[in-house]
Amino acid sequence: MAKANLDRKDMPRQSPEARAKNFEEVALGYTPDLTAFEASRCLNCPKKYCIGGCPVGIDIPAFIMALRENDLPRAARVLKEKNALPGVCGRVCPQETQCEAVCLLAKQKAPIAIGRLERYVADWERDHPSSEKTVIAPPSGKKVAVVGSGPAGLTCAAEMARLGHKVTMFEALHVAGGVLMYGIPEFRLPKDIVQGEVEYVRSLGVELELNAVVGKIDNVDELLSQGYDAVFLGTGAGLPLFLRVPGENLSGVYSANEFLTRVNLMKAYRFPEFDTPVKIGKKVAVIGGGNVAMDAARCALRLGADEVSIVYRRSEVELPARREEVENAKEEGIKFRFLTNPTKFLGDAKHQLLGMECIEMELGEPDASGRHRPIPKPDSAFTMDCDVAVVALGTTPNPLIAQTTSGLHVSHHGTVVASEATGRTNKAGVWAGGDVVTGSATVISAMGAAKRAAADMDRYLRGVEQTPA
Ligand SMILES: Cc1cc2nc3c(=O)[nH]c(=O)nc-3n(C[C@H](O)[C@H](O)[C@H](O)COP(=O)(O)OP(=O)(O)OC[C@H]3O[C@@H](n4cnc5c(N)ncnc54)[C@H](O)[C@@H]3O)c2cc1C
Repeated sequence: MAKANLDRKDMPRQSPEARAKNFEEVALGYTPDLTAFEASRCLNCPKKYCIGGCPVGIDIPAFIMALRENDLPRAARVLKEKNALPGVCGRVCPQETQCEAVCLLAKQKAPIAIGRLERYVADWERDHPSSEKTVIAPPSGKKVAVVGSGPAGLTCAAEMARLGHKVTMFEALHVAGGVLMYGIPEFRLPKDIVQGEVEYVRSLGVELELNAVVGKIDNVDELLSQGYDAVFLGTGAGLPLFLRVPGENLSGVYSANEFLTRVNLMKAYRFPEFDTPVKIGKKVAVIGGGNVAMDAARCALRLGADEVSIVYRRSEVELPARREEVENAKEEGIKFRFLTNPTKFLGDAKHQLLGMECIEMELGEPDASGRHRPIPKPDSAFTMDCDVAVVALGTTPNPLIAQTTSGLHVSHHGTVVASEATGRTNKAGVWAGGDVVTGSATVISAMGAAKRAAADMDRYLRGVEQTPA
């Protein structure tokens, strides 16, 4: 094995001062030289731990070796074999906790920058469309309905189409992509990258029906009786959770879903060119500590707020957001108020938000999640001024599918119950995967679940296994 090179290269980024004022991509991507250098560090280990660290099983050393030989078409082919969305994953996957975490060089804190290399190859392929078509199996004669076009739906649709099944993907919104379009901001994930990958999935023969809310138009039972042989539910977790404290319905209090949808999908950041209103506060408080909270805070700053604070009830150590995004937010000037919890929103006579009553918290014993439980500190109440508050506490699935699909098992959290290994639900012919099963998680975990479900659906459709588990 070659000697370990620990000199991992950073990716160029816009300066914090410049990027805090625009919605253009923060990370600029590796140059060809940086790519060649980074690829040269791969040890091509005999035991390829990185592949096991990738939920969709990309042959990571193979694409890096192709890069090393400057064979970009081969690198792109290796990626696409397992991943229909490499441009997305190269940008937003938490590689640091997956493939890069198990890279042998991670032990010396310098894992190969797998995500950045993936992004480089995906972007290269986008600029150099290949004449080589993805191999599609002969038609199976089976019809599959995929409900939802987020990472789970797109992955399941792509896999099933490659396996020769006729796929129709139903999407409630007017555009495909799920959270990739309506949640994650342009400055982390440009929307033309997402749409390019949606087009790739469509190029495999997948039909896309937009503005099609399953459960409002046809429900899952009707799809099955109309001739679909299998249905995959990839409907995500789009229903926001709230604090449930007084004043949460004041004008100026948003759920992160609404705020980010207005800004990203409805393009409020390009007002008045796009006429979606969104309140731009002077002092903005974002409640929560995940990627969603970071995204909302950074959007508010870019929209022109004077001061944006993240209010989080635990300490910095427990922040669930990606470390890279926390650092980006800090550099841009986002303030952090740790160990703080709002107990009431305060408004004026016109029902406009003026501030929040908060209490300080301290950390107790670890809870079921292994994180220290936040406990209110006695006599610590104080008031914090803000004219916009964004609540980013997490989401659960919209109950529509559960309410309109006869006999489908749903947990008490509202998530669809499905086998982790196969995606099978209790209902014959119906599979599920992604956030609708796990609650809000990650792009790559949704894609991994969709791949496992697609493999099982394929076996079922070909009669290899007839009885749903
Ligand atoms: C702001 C934000 C930032 C995030 N940042 C990251 C990140 O950096 N890295 C990361 O890995 N993950 C991130 N995530 C999480 C990640 O985006 C999700 O885990 C992932 O999108 C889940 O994919 P999915 O396909 O299960 O669901 P979704 O992406 O939610 O897609 C579900 C789709 O189904 C559609 N749908 C719902 N109901 C119906 C119906 N009845 N009929 C038809 N269509 C329907 C929805 O409109 C939606 O398009 C972030 C999430 C948010 C909200």
